[in-house]
Amino acid sequence: MNILVTGGAGFIGSHLCTELLKLKYNVTIIDDLSTGSLDNLTAIIDNEQLTLIKGSILDKAIFEKVSTHVDTIFHLAAAVGVKYILDNPLQSIHTNVMGTENVLEFAHKTNIKVILASTSEVYGKNDKASLSENDGRVLGSTHITRWSYSCSKALDEFMAFAYHRKFGLPIIITRLFNTCGPRQSERYGMVIPRFIKQAIQSQPITVHGVGEQIRSFTYVSDTVRALIALMHEDKCIGEVFNIGGKEPVTIKKLAELVKKKVGSSSRVIFIPYEEAYGAGFEDMQRRVPNIAKIKSFIDFEPLVGLDEILDTTIAYINQEMDIVEKKNEIHSC
Ligand code: UDP
Repeated sequence: MNILVTGGAGFIGSHLCTELLKLKYNVTIIDDLSTGSLDNLTAIIDNEQLTLIKGSILDKAIFEKVSTHVDTIFHLAAAVGVKYILDNPLQSIHTNVMGTENVLEFAHKTNIKVILASTSEVYGKNDKASLSENDGRVLGSTHITRWSYSCSKALDEFMAFAYHRKFGLPIIITRLFNTCGPRQSERYGMVIPRFIKQAIQSQPITVHGVGEQIRSFTYVSDTVRALIALMHEDKCIGEVFNIGGKEPVTIKKLAELVKKKVGSSSRVIFIPYEEAYGAGFEDMQRRVPNIAKIKSFIDFEPLVGLDEILDTTIAYINQEMDIVEKKNEIHSC
């Protein structure tokens, strides 16, 4: 079976490709290496069943370079991270909307199954106790750039549904809730790698707002397992699924947990949102998934809890920082 993974050199994409190769699938990656990187592929780059096509999904011609018949596309290439979206609003909308349209058009030509990675951001500010797939979206004004991400991914979902309803294209939509784990970069603002790096470096741990906002973090191996299981189950076609963890935590508590686990002397400090993200920023105060639907379709249950997520990610970031330090020592010798 041949699988195409757009964004395969990214954080989630690289973990997904590793699992697909373990399962002996042929994997082709399309990635422009903008937010993804070859470093993420170190362990699999020499695998004979892997093909890497460097280029953007915005370039329609890139799909002509896919030389094999494709059975399934995991479409993960997208603008990621609140900070990245705020810094690159136009490019983010282009990638998410036009890029996805190109992927769906390519899939439509030969009726390839598409598993679309969407996001819990589509729910916007809906702060229901737990969010179900049919719940409404609560969004702020269009002059607040953050909501463009929610809208662009929602448009992706609308397009995928439209291809499914009009042409019978087999699509499955997934809404990912704060996926985290090794290889997630802190560069685009993601809270867990940021807090861990700050704690290791004895810098202040920067909680935004008063820290009462709640998230449910999902370990990347759980996300990947769910994505692969969805691919195998035909009754999931035409459906949308939340993929999320089940241990909601406030960001203030997360900061304290990270500090304790790292054994850090860092102070936990509180930074107003305006200072962190600019004037008029809006955050969601509660984002917790209801995962009853995916459980009923593929019997999915997240296996990795917050403690293990933090332990594994702390160990990984410590190791990465040691490697960087050693490289710097060698250069300065
Ligand atoms: N956050 C924080 N300090 C940081 C980075 C993020 O307090 O240094 C907060 C952020 O404002 C949000 C939560 O942590 O409320 C999760 O942020 P992230 O960007 O990881 O994901 P989001 O849920 O916003 O997509």
